[in-house]
Amino acid sequence: MAKEKIILTGDRPTGRLHIGHYVGSLRRRVELQNSGLYDKTFIFIADAQALTDNMDNPEKVRQNVIEVALDYLACGLDPTKSTIFIQSQIPELCELSFYYMDLVTVSRLQRNPTVKTEIQMRNFETSIPVGFFTYPISQAADITAFKATTVPVGEDQEPMIEQAREIVRRFNHIYGETLVEPEILLPDNAACLRLPGTDGKAKMSKSLGNCIYLSDSADEVTKKIKSMYTDPNHIRVEDPGQIEGNTVFTYLDAFCRPEHFDRYWKDYANLAELKAHYQRGGLGDMKVKKFLTAIMQEELEPIRTRRKEFEQDIPAIYDMLKKGCEVAREQAAQTLDEVRRAMKINYFDDAELIAEQARKFKAE
Ligand code: ATP
Ligand code: MG
Repeated sequence: MAKEKIILTGDRPTGRLHIGHYVGSLRRRVELQNSGLYDKTFIFIADAQALTDNMDNPEKVRQNVIEVALDYLACGLDPTKSTIFIQSQIPELCELSFYYMDLVTVSRLQRNPTVKTEIQMRNFETSIPVGFFTYPISQAADITAFKATTVPVGEDQEPMIEQAREIVRRFNHIYGETLVEPEILLPDNAACLRLPGTDGKAKMSKSLGNCIYLSDSADEVTKKIKSMYTDPNHIRVEDPGQIEGNTVFTYLDAFCRPEHFDRYWKDYANLAELKAHYQRGGLGDMKVKKFLTAIMQEELEPIRTRRKEFEQDIPAIYDMLKKGCEVAREQAAQTLDEVRRAMKINYFDDAELIAEQARKFKAE
């Protein structure tokens, strides 16, 4: 049988989802889900992982589970096509992590660049919670439990997937071919790999407060774009402007399509022409921001509207999540069975082992 093609990815319920999530992973997931090219899609809300650095604020995590679920549905994830579930409800994942911990060294974890940056970002320094430090291992459990072949994520997750691949290889090497090695699927547009925040900081992130949320009102989006970081040296309209590191242009790279010029700014045929004018000088930031605002509103309006509809029946969403957890748990339990068998800790389902031991001791 050809190997099944399985998608898995998730988000931490530490806030509502933002346009960085959207271009980095969410938009892609919906396309993949609808492409018909994959046998299964698993999408999960990583509440247990969110608790690793929010252990003292469980209410925040609890409140945001539904926010993330609403964002999923609003963007077009469809529970009839994708299994949407909550991480903490799948205890099999903890058991897998526990066994994988034996396959990873402390120094390997310390070298993981994502762990390093995130520790810095949170000012953990020497007070890193063990659970946070080991989260690449639990991430490997999340991925392998579902035999995921394809993990669509933003660039920041690359070291995580690499670590998961190493764990799979080591496991299979020691215990025999059991786990599936996942592949990362990065956005194909460079601007989407790691969308910067509205403040120009390297990454839009819930923890940095520099986000445009998918559920922001039209007014909020307009306001946030108005005060966005551009080129600090582009002071007068006639000054030549810089494109690199200019957040407004990065967002245009991520969202602008040729037909947007037709609809909102007939002065230019495409983004290259607009950029050239900005670089030459004579084009003010406000005009470019107005164009970006029109594009963003067009993209976000249908998401906002669908979210409002889903918000009308919250119990139905919890019900959907509960069903998703049941399906996910079944799959994870099956993988765990295989793992236990490979690791030779399946004593009671191994009649042969018991018979063999019985013979051995009789013979002595
Ligand atoms: P937190 O600050 O709590 O870590 P976050 O905003 O970094 O939140 P995550 O839940 O860690 O969001 O990330 C979920 C997914 O979204 C991951 O696949 C990640 O790569 C992707 N992602 C997050 N931020 C961005 C971004 N700015 N650009 C592209 N992809 C992103
Ligand atoms: Mg993150």
